[in-house]
Amino acid sequence: DSTGEPEGILRPATSGNYAPGPGSDRINATLLALVRNEELEGMLQAMGDLERTWNHKFNYPWTFFNDVPFSDEFKQKTQAVTKAECRYEVIPEEHWAMPSWINKDLYEESVKILKEQEIQYADMISYHQMCRWNSGMFYKHPALADTQFYWRVEPKVHFFCDVDYDVFRYMQDNNKTYGFTINLYDAPASIPTLWPETQKFLAQHPEYVHKNNAMDWLTDKTRRPAHNAKANGYSTCHFWTNFEIADLSFWRSKAYEDYFNHLDRAGGFFYERWGDAPVHSIALGLFADSSSIHWFRDIGYQHIPFFNCPNSPKCHGCVKGRFAEGADWLNQEDCRPNWFKYVGMG
Ligand code: GDP
Ligand code: MN
Repeated sequence: DSTGEPEGILRPATSGNYAPGPGSDRINATLLALVRNEELEGMLQAMGDLERTWNHKFNYPWTFFNDVPFSDEFKQKTQAVTKAECRYEVIPEEHWAMPSWINKDLYEESVKILKEQEIQYADMISYHQMCRWNSGMFYKHPALADTQFYWRVEPKVHFFCDVDYDVFRYMQDNNKTYGFTINLYDAPASIPTLWPETQKFLAQHPEYVHKNNAMDWLTDKTRRPAHNAKANGYSTCHFWTNFEIADLSFWRSKAYEDYFNHLDRAGGFFYERWGDAPVHSIALGLFADSSSIHWFRDIGYQHIPFFNCPNSPKCHGCVKGRFAEGADWLNQEDCRPNWFKYVGMG
């Protein structure tokens, strides 16, 4: 218990891992959120949505991660939203800090260029750290050592539809590695060397590519040529990782670990603004069996400004079929049709 507080005050005592206890129908899984103390209100709202539409039927535990300790207020108010166990974990310094091989001057120079290209958050070092942590660190936290599946939740997201089955059990029973709701194009200027670095890695490790990969989806060129040129061969279509339901063993595989280490050494989490979404998506497209990737069409979801809003009587509070809210061009960011074209419905 890394929070160091006595057990039993804010939550039930635990056996120290998430293995479901005797008599529980739950499988080995947790809801997972990286979140700041200042985002408490948004977290309560997102938790409330997920508890109401799904988790009150299953009571999967919540695991919260932060680079600084959670406040007592954060712990008390989040625990009050759920009957399930909540755990509050601090990220070890060595998982969060900028790696020693990153050149600070080069980072500062790179940020200027990214800013000129209007890359959001390019000058927030914590945003780069967050993307790197979500790419290659979260699954190494000791608190997840005994956990197999997770569902990532961010503050302020919405869930709209009643879901009556255990989605973690669905993942397990159907050999699913990864579940998503939204597929989007990315800003090419945030990842100019990600695909070239990936190709270097593949030249060294062709054996890691799964025979049923989604390479055609990764390299699709139906978007305008300038976009493709700037991303140097990657379509930028990615699973939007603020929502993900996944099997941790994929990230713990040798293929992914070697791939992450290659990318980490290349420095693009800092010299560019590689997001965990394109990194996860490229890895899944290359190393996973594409039939183990599942679109959760039935989970109504929003992270501003995009929606997955199914046309179903189980859904309330979103506009059926709507994808984007705001400017018209946002609707063209949807690249799910590509996924369906190359890979099918999964
Ligand atoms: P966006 O979705 O790309 O606009 O980025 P967000 O600001 O939503 O950040 C993504 C996730 O990481 C959210 O769950 C944030 O709460 C979390 N996050 C981002 N930066 C930090 C940080 O410095 N510390 C902590 N604890 N969480 C962070
Ligand atoms: Mn967000």
